[in-house]
Formats: sequence, C-alpha cells, structure tokens
Amino acid sequence: MYRTRTCGELRLSDVNQVVALAGWVQKNRKMGGMSFIDIRDRYGITQLVFNQESNLELCEQANKLGREFVIQVTGTVKERSSKNKNIETGDVEIIVSDLKLLNASEVPPFTIDDETDGGDELRMQYRYLDLRRAVVRKNLELRHKMAFETRRFLDAQNFMEVETPVLIKSTPEGARDFVVPSRMNPGEFYALPQSPQLFKQLLMVSGFDRYFQIAKCFRDEDLRADRQPEFTQIDCEMSFVEQEDVLNIFEGLAKHLFSTIKGVDIQGDFPRMTWADGMKYYGSDKPDIRFEMKFVELKDLTEGKNFVVFDSAEYVGGICAEGCASFTRKQLDELTDFVKRPQIGAKGMVYVRCEADGTYKSSVDKFYSQEDLKAWGERFGAKSGDLILILSGETEKAQKQLCELRLEMGSRLGLRDKNVFAPLWIVDFPLFEWDADSNRFFAMHHPFTSPKPEDIPLLDTAPGKVRANAYDMVINGVELGGGSIRIHDSALQKRMFELLGFTDEQAQYQFGFLMDAFKYGAPPHGGLAFGLDRFVSLFAGLDSIRDCIAFPKNNSGRDVMNDAPSRIDQAQLDELSLVLNLKEQK
Ligand code: ASP
Repeated sequence: MYRTRTCGELRLSDVNQVVALAGWVQKNRKMGGMSFIDIRDRYGITQLVFNQESNLELCEQANKLGREFVIQVTGTVKERSSKNKNIETGDVEIIVSDLKLLNASEVPPFTIDDETDGGDELRMQYRYLDLRRAVVRKNLELRHKMAFETRRFLDAQNFMEVETPVLIKSTPEGARDFVVPSRMNPGEFYALPQSPQLFKQLLMVSGFDRYFQIAKCFRDEDLRADRQPEFTQIDCEMSFVEQEDVLNIFEGLAKHLFSTIKGVDIQGDFPRMTWADGMKYYGSDKPDIRFEMKFVELKDLTEGKNFVVFDSAEYVGGICAEGCASFTRKQLDELTDFVKRPQIGAKGMVYVRCEADGTYKSSVDKFYSQEDLKAWGERFGAKSGDLILILSGETEKAQKQLCELRLEMGSRLGLRDKNVFAPLWIVDFPLFEWDADSNRFFAMHHPFTSPKPEDIPLLDTAPGKVRANAYDMVINGVELGGGSIRIHDSALQKRMFELLGFTDEQAQYQFGFLMDAFKYGAPPHGGLAFGLDRFVSLFAGLDSIRDCIAFPKNNSGRDVMNDAPSRIDQAQLDELSLVLNLKEQK
C-alpha cells in the first residue's frame, strides 16, 4: 500500500498514529542536525522530520531529495512545537521512520507554488506542472463541483443527458466552423459543432422533452479573455414551454449553483431588462448592474448654442459619477485619453463639475451658460460634488463608448467588487441584425429563434423591428448564457431562411433535415446554453476563462504544450485527398 492517509488530512487528533504518505517534495531544508521536507499531494502539504541523531542514514537519504521528487514515507504523527497557521496540517509533523524514493525529478522550470516565477507561456508549456499548483488546481476543483451540481439539479428536474455527435454538418452560431476532412468520403468535410443546437431540437421532435448535455463546442473566431476555440456549454432544451418556463428553470439552476457552491442566497427574482433598455441606459446587451450610473440623454438640451461637436452629433449623452467633482485635471485627462484609445474610438469627452457652491464648471463653458448646465445637471439628478461625463457622436458608437467609460469609472470607484453578484435577464432581443458590409440581415441569436408572435406581421414590412423570443442571463457584465424559444413550424422556418438570404436550394441543402423533421409533429420548444467556463471564472473571480480549463489554448489558438496545430505528413494528406496551397510564409 503506497499510502494510508493523504498529505492534507492529519490533525492533532492523529498524534501518535503511524501513517504512510506519498507525494511530491515541495521543499527540503536542513537545520543543524534536523532535516525538514514538505510533502505535497492534491489534498495538501505535511511536514516530514528527519533527525540525524536518531537515524543518520535516513537523514542523509532525505537530504538528497530535490524539488518534485516523488516519495513514500512511513512515520509517526507528532504535535509540532512551532505550529504553522498557514496550512491545515500545521499543528502536526511526521517523524519519519522509512523513506522510499518512487521517482526522481529534474529541476522544474518554475517554482510549483501559489506565487510562481514562471511566466504565462512557460507555465502553459509545462501545464502539467502548473496544474500541481494549488491555486490552479482549485479552479478545476470548482469546475468539477459546478458540473456535478448542475447535473444533480437538472436530473432532479427530469432532464436527461444525451450525447450528440462531434462530427457533424455545420450548425450556424455566427462563427466560422472548424472542419475535418473525411477520408472515406474524399472531398467532403465534417464540421465540429459550434453548439449542439440542431441535435437538441431534433431530440425535442423525438419526444425527449427535457434534454441537457455538458457539451464541448468549437468556434473558429478571434480569441479574447472570455473565448477559447473549444469551450464547454451546459446545453439545455425543453418541450412545451414558453419563455417564462425556461427563465424560471434556469434561474433556479443559477440560484442552486450560487447557494451550493458559493454559499450565496440570491433573494427574489432576477430583474429583467429589455435589450432596448440595455442599449439606452448602459450601451450594452450585457450591462454590469452592480452599480447604477445609467446613461442620460442630453441632445435636446445641448442644441443651438453653436457647439458644433454636439450640434452635429446624432447622440449626446453622459453619466453622472457621484462625488467625483474633485477629480483632478490629470484624472480627467486620463479619462479623455481612455475614451480616445483606438479600441474605444471617441473623439473627446466633455465634463461638467457640480461645485460645492451650486455652480457648474465645464470644459464647454464657452458655449453653455450656468442656466444650460443647470438644466443638464437636473436631468441627471446631479448633486453638488458630482461629476458629469459626456460623449457624443453616432448613436450606436457613442453608446458603446459611453459603456466603456461607465465601466472604467465603475472600476476606478471600486464599484465592481468580484464578491458581489448582480444577475439579470436581458429579454426582447431584435430577431435580426443588419450587416452594412454584406448588406443583409443576420440572425442576432441564430436562425432557429422564433419571432414574438405579435411581431410576425413585421417580418414582411420591417424585419429590423421584429423582436425575438430570445433571452440572455447576464451577471456582472458577463453574458453567462442565452437561448430562445424556437421556431417549430416548417413554413415559418423556411420564411426565416429566406429573410436571411438563403435560396430554397441552400436552405434545403444545409437544413433540409430540420425542416423535414418539423413536418412530423414538432412540439413547441425552447432552451438555452450556459457557458460553463464563464460561469466557473465568475465564481472563481478569474480574469480569463483559460485559468479554469485544464489544457487551454493561447491567444493564437495554439496548445503550446503539445504544439498543436501542427503539420501532417504527405501520406496523411494523400489519404485525405488534400493538396495544400500555402501562401508563401513571410
Ligand atoms: N445554441 C445556442 C448558443 O450556443 C444556445 C441556445 O440557443 O440554446 O448560444
């Protein structure tokens, strides 16, 4: 038997017991005639003691052990004279009577500790060593618990986990597909699923009623902190439901995870906000409502005073930061620089300080009188000591810029505490999104989302105005999940494909099987998917979803540990009937 106990469990109540432990050498130090080794496993760290006087040979053997050597020890648990409050086993140590080296280790490329000297790239290259660090392991433990509790909750609600294929025909979710060539069908390709969307809908046609799957999804898109080319969804679908039923069930799941995993009981229903209000008040379809600072529009109050910037703008609006009138010139300049960054793209920022004496000081004093500024202040409900920040321009752009400014102010003012959770539902998304570049409509969610019944007549006259039965769950400015009530009528689905610019042949070629299935008694259905990686990151307070994925890719989509993607040899290409046409490498 390699071990009788783990390295994380011994306490004072175990004193005088003889135990066997196995694990890695975390630290090895010699002090006079004594040697101390910290032995580590997944469960914790325990101090081992070797005494030169009582067993010289054993002590010398111990002194030779390097970091990350794998050892097995037997010994007696004793109370420590100087206790270590930082580790859970810190009250005890083991007086070792027997030591076995199970495997030696090279010197690791970085220290295996919570604080490490390893840079990002190096840690990813040796991810298996990085995963030995407790801080990283804890994220994966959390992930496991969340997946487990999700299954428990959904199982209790009669959801059935069904696996759907990974080699499929493309499912449009708005990204590029990863494709896999088929050896047995030369010239033909599978796509990897961007989500199990069509399969879960087909399972509803099969009468499965309540489906879920913790499913891998693949999207070939530019990567960001909250995106990986392969990620995991808690994917769900239900039959005979309306939007309200879906929101209730999954609000229940979110609350269950909050209470079982975080010990946070979220009281009351999650607030709901329409997509239109999200844009109007926060410039975002995923507003962070941990703090207020809602947008206020000012266009009508600013007109006709010869300030060309505002007069020529479609939108003038701002936010009011409480108690920030004391911001210095330097701080205001920093904010101006912030909004002018190319990623944000504002031309400038106007500020109004609400002074203690009731007067207003602003960067546009030349154009606007105290009376004018007072009217602005009143619209914001500003008090003495507040600071108003205003942006202007084309409506959608200016709102997005103002959204960034609001979030920046929220961060600067400490209003985005990672331990505070502010969930909400965004509802009533537009069904379509106009793409000026390709001069056509795209489905804002996906092409299987149903329009609100009362908006169906608008499909012919004003498609851009049609609202969808679609919803997103947003927590702290992160879109955690989203879904919709689906179209279950083949004629309406066909109409949808037409509006999206598919010819009959294209629609038939790509989605014929779905439209056929809908001819055989498709029940009304709807569902949603949560991003598991995002959910775990939110709970763990991480800045990137990478940190809760065991083996993530870097920002260029590479696995730097096993060096994927990589070339394949000519024989493999031949077998797949593939000829490469590589542009010359620069
Ligand atoms: N398939 C959708 C997505 O991946 C979720 C859903 O509509 O259920 O976003």
